[in-house]
Amino acid sequence: MNLLGAGILKGMAVTLKNFIGSYFDKERLNTLEYMWQNDKSLPKRAGDYPKEEGEQLRPTTTVTNYSRNFPMLLHDDGEPMDTIRCVACQICERECPPQCIYIEKSDDKKERPGGKPQFYPATFDIDVSVCMSCQICVEVCPFDAIVMNSQFELSTPDRFNGLLLKRGDLLKSNQYYHKIHPEEAADRDKRIADDKAAKEAKKKAAEAAKEAKKKAAEAKAKSEAEANSKEESKDPSEPPQTSTEHNKEENTE
Ligand code: SF4
Ligand code: SF4
Repeated sequence: MNLLGAGILKGMAVTLKNFIGSYFDKERLNTLEYMWQNDKSLPKRAGDYPKEEGEQLRPTTTVTNYSRNFPMLLHDDGEPMDTIRCVACQICERECPPQCIYIEKSDDKKERPGGKPQFYPATFDIDVSVCMSCQICVEVCPFDAIVMNSQFELSTPDRFNGLLLKRGDLLKSNQYYHKIHPEEAADRDKRIADDKAAKEAKKKAAEAAKEAKKKAAEAKAKSEAEANSKEESKDPSEPPQTSTEHNKEENTE
C-alpha cells in the first residue's frame, strides 16, 4: 500500500540531495539536457555559453524547427546595416502587447540594393525579460523584417542590460533563418518573390496603359491639327457666313 504523500517526500529528498550536492559539485546547478559544450562539459558561468550563429542546432540540444522563442531582425546578403529589412515603420512597436519593443527611426535614408532609399532603425531594442513570445510583431510587420528566433539559452547574470537585446544582437542573416526554420523561410522567400513579380507586372501594365493613352492623345492632337490646317487652306476671299445671313437664307426658303 502506498503511503499518502510518499511521492512528495521522495521528490523533496531528491531536491535536498541536489541542493546539498551543489555545494560540492557546481555542475549540479545546470540542467544536463541543455548542455552546450562539444566536450560535454558545462559552462562555468552563464556568460560562458557559446554565442555563434546556429549554436542551437547542435545535437546536444532539444530545439526543433518549430520552436519559437524571441524575435530577431532579418537582413539580406551583404553588410547587415546595408541590407536590413526593417524600415523603422514602428508598427510592431505599437502592436506589441507588453510594449517591450523600443525603436528610434533614423534621420537619414539608406540606399537599398534594387530599391528606393529607406529609413532604418537607429535604435531597435527588445526587452526579452518582458517579451511573451506571442509573435504579433512578426504577424504585423509589412516588410518581413522580424521573425522568431529559436535561441533559447539566454542565461545571463545581468537581469536588466543582459536581457535588453539591442539591434546588433537582434540582427540575423536570412541564411541563418533558413538554417533554423527552413520551411518557413522558404515559404516566406517564395511569397516575397511572388509579391515582387506581381508588383512588377502591375507596374509594367500601368506603364503600357500610360503609353497607350499618350499615343491616343498624340493621334487626336495630330488629326485636329490636320483638320485646322485644311480649314485654313480654304479661299480666304470667301468671307465666312454670318449667322444673320444664314437665318435670312433659311427664311426665304
Ligand atoms: S513576440 Fe510578442 S511580446 Fe515579444 S516582442 Fe513580439 S509582439 Fe512583443
Ligand atoms: S520590424 Fe517591421 S513592423 Fe517593426 S519597425 Fe521594422 S519594418 Fe516596421
